[in-house]
Amino acid sequence: MADRYQLVIGGQLADAASGETFDSIDPSTGKAFATVGKGGAEDARRAAEAARKAFDQGPWPKMKGRERAAALLKVADLVKQNAGALAELEAKDAGHTIRMAKGADIGMVVSTFRVFAEIAAKENDEEPLARNPGSMNYVRYEGVCVGITPWNFPIQMAAWKIAPAIAAGNTVVIKPATYTPLTTLEIGRLCLEAGIPEGVVNVVAGSGAAVGEELVGSPLVDKVAFTGSTEVGRRIMELASSNIKKCTLELGGKSASVVLDDVDLDYAVDGAMWGVFFHNGQVCSAGTRLLVQRPIVDEFLAELTKRTEGIRVGPALDPASDEGPIESKTQLETVERYVGIGRDEGADVLTGGERAVVEGHEGGFYYRPTILGNVKSSMRVAQEEIFGPVLVVIPFEDEADAVAMANDSIYGLAGGVWSSDNGRAVKVAEQIRTGTVWINDYHMINPRYPFGGYKQSGIGREHGEMGFNEYRQVKHIHVDLGGPSRARHPWWDLTVPKREQPSAPGAETPGPKAPG
Ligand code: NAP
Ligand code: MG
Repeated sequence: MADRYQLVIGGQLADAASGETFDSIDPSTGKAFATVGKGGAEDARRAAEAARKAFDQGPWPKMKGRERAAALLKVADLVKQNAGALAELEAKDAGHTIRMAKGADIGMVVSTFRVFAEIAAKENDEEPLARNPGSMNYVRYEGVCVGITPWNFPIQMAAWKIAPAIAAGNTVVIKPATYTPLTTLEIGRLCLEAGIPEGVVNVVAGSGAAVGEELVGSPLVDKVAFTGSTEVGRRIMELASSNIKKCTLELGGKSASVVLDDVDLDYAVDGAMWGVFFHNGQVCSAGTRLLVQRPIVDEFLAELTKRTEGIRVGPALDPASDEGPIESKTQLETVERYVGIGRDEGADVLTGGERAVVEGHEGGFYYRPTILGNVKSSMRVAQEEIFGPVLVVIPFEDEADAVAMANDSIYGLAGGVWSSDNGRAVKVAEQIRTGTVWINDYHMINPRYPFGGYKQSGIGREHGEMGFNEYRQVKHIHVDLGGPSRARHPWWDLTVPKREQPSAPGAETPGPKAPG
């Protein structure tokens, strides 16, 4: 694939209006390897105008759901055909291990486009409501969307934002994170290759301050779907209020993995590791707080620490690497800072707690998977999202104590419960105030099932029918079947004699009816 990337605006690959570019960095080496058009406010405006025009005048919103579905399936096929190159690009741009990029990212992108194709194909654009004797009633759906995505799962997030939006007949402008724009630009290009009409999918790389703010504040845009930090989420809501845009927000998390004392220890230790260390903990739903029932905590922790020390940290493109680099130098420094805060708060570093040295890749941003013991729920390392490979472990006494601690958070995105007794686990899961709880597993995100947060983890849901409906505007159309021949509306004074029907249309316009 090219080492120079352009924006996708109005069906064309385009340089930024300013002609400026920026470098994309490979976190495995710390070196630049590609240049990207550096979009600014003017490019954002051009893209919003292209999307508006494609929505107001283009064929896409008028097509049948099944016709749009065919185009989405074509995108899925093209992603499959380009799987190797896309996975390699994600590994280089975002530090995803090549195993994860091939095994998880591409699969998720393909299934996201397929699932929303399926939903679009069976969805009625017009759903009749129950018929009244005097009227027929319909619901119609219509809706220009903006998607803003974070750097942790760039290609998956692009699919999560593009597929449901266009499946529902909208047009979109996507702004990928500045650290990781490349695979999103490639998905935009593949959408053009799949024959999706011009202006339906636009991608503008560039900063949140320039491109993001312009898009979210734009009067041409109807809806914003944002994934990122809670702090920026607050700003998105503020900007969206300018023209009362609908916004859905997928924000931060500090999810709890609760281990009950009846658990199969061997299985749960692996599961807890997967819950927190998958992609270096740079996962919004990561199980970064491990709550373990007191009788088994010592044994659990000893085994967990031993296995964590076996995780191989290395360059993303090396198939032997279990963990790649942290995505950016800034994020590496954030992780280091938080481990320092934990030490100052009195936590014990049971393993990790320092940068990893990877021979031949000294400029890369590597950190050792880290476990902090002797942590209390009130500490900053137990309350704030670190977004790195750092697990805090806290013992609990009984289920009520576990639930109280799991809920002791401003966030409510996800979590896990580990137990040999499903009934017991479900009872705990039901009391955890988060959008998703996995029992005896973790990270089982599926484009068919709703995903999103309670509390400061967000508003609205992505995926499935519920996610699809976030992209539809609902309109009720009521057709009066009585016509002018029926009795006068009872609201009005009946002492006035009924007038003659006008002979020519437009001779006299009947007044509005009072609201029911
Ligand atoms: P971020 O700093 O909030 O940035 C997210 C996106 O917003 C980026 O594209 C960023 O652009 C853009 N942005 C920044 N300021 C903006 C503004 N004023 N107006 C409009 N857009 C703006 O988050 P991040 O550091 O990339 O990602 C990590 C965060 O995302 C974590 O908190 C994580 O939990 C969350 N996350 C949540 C989910 C979920 O589904 N709930 C999934 C993944 C990640 P720049 O790149 O140019 O700054
Ligand atoms: Mg990069």
